[in-house]
Amino acid sequence: MLYPPSHCDHCRHKLQPSEMIPLLSALCQRFRCTHCQQKFSTRSFWLELFCGMLFLIFLRDFQWLHLWRLFWLLSALVLAVIDWDQLIVEMRIFWATGLILLISGCFLFQIYWTNPLIICGLFYLSQKILPNSLGLGDLWVIGLWSCFLSGYELLQLLFIASLSGLSFFGYQAFRQKIPERLPFVPFLFIGLFILLLKNH
Ligand SMILES: [Zn+2]
Repeated sequence: MLYPPSHCDHCRHKLQPSEMIPLLSALCQRFRCTHCQQKFSTRSFWLELFCGMLFLIFLRDFQWLHLWRLFWLLSALVLAVIDWDQLIVEMRIFWATGLILLISGCFLFQIYWTNPLIICGLFYLSQKILPNSLGLGDLWVIGLWSCFLSGYELLQLLFIASLSGLSFFGYQAFRQKIPERLPFVPFLFIGLFILLLKNH
């Protein structure tokens, strides 16, 4: 994310600081590169808007737990975007953010240390029934998140993730664009987002 420096994907023009102001730069430039006038994707704009919204929701009244939840969501969002683009769970980011979440979580609430074991058991069963349905990276994410959720919350999260994943798959099948593999972290993120929003 930090390297290479932000640039236009079309002409490789390196972005100036004035072109990197969240939201405003994209709007002022009407989603065009200042150098080659090529239109760029509006995705980063929507991501910036979404992150801004998350900050507003979670930090409106400051509490360490809210800040912790915001960090959880943002780290999940980064993993989700990478998984969406490249179909991998970026393990370096997973471990770096996961350790911060675990250590700081210990000071904020009771960690459910036994949940990851149950997840491993369920994973073992699912591999027997549907081999290779879930990647190892996805399992790590679910295992980590299960430390922070009660069994019922975890079920809700997995239910929302599976339902949104299936809906997306159905929609793609309807457009006759059946994907060979489906990233799962983006759908886990949707589940987490809805769950944290509901509990907030
Ligand atoms: Zn350009």
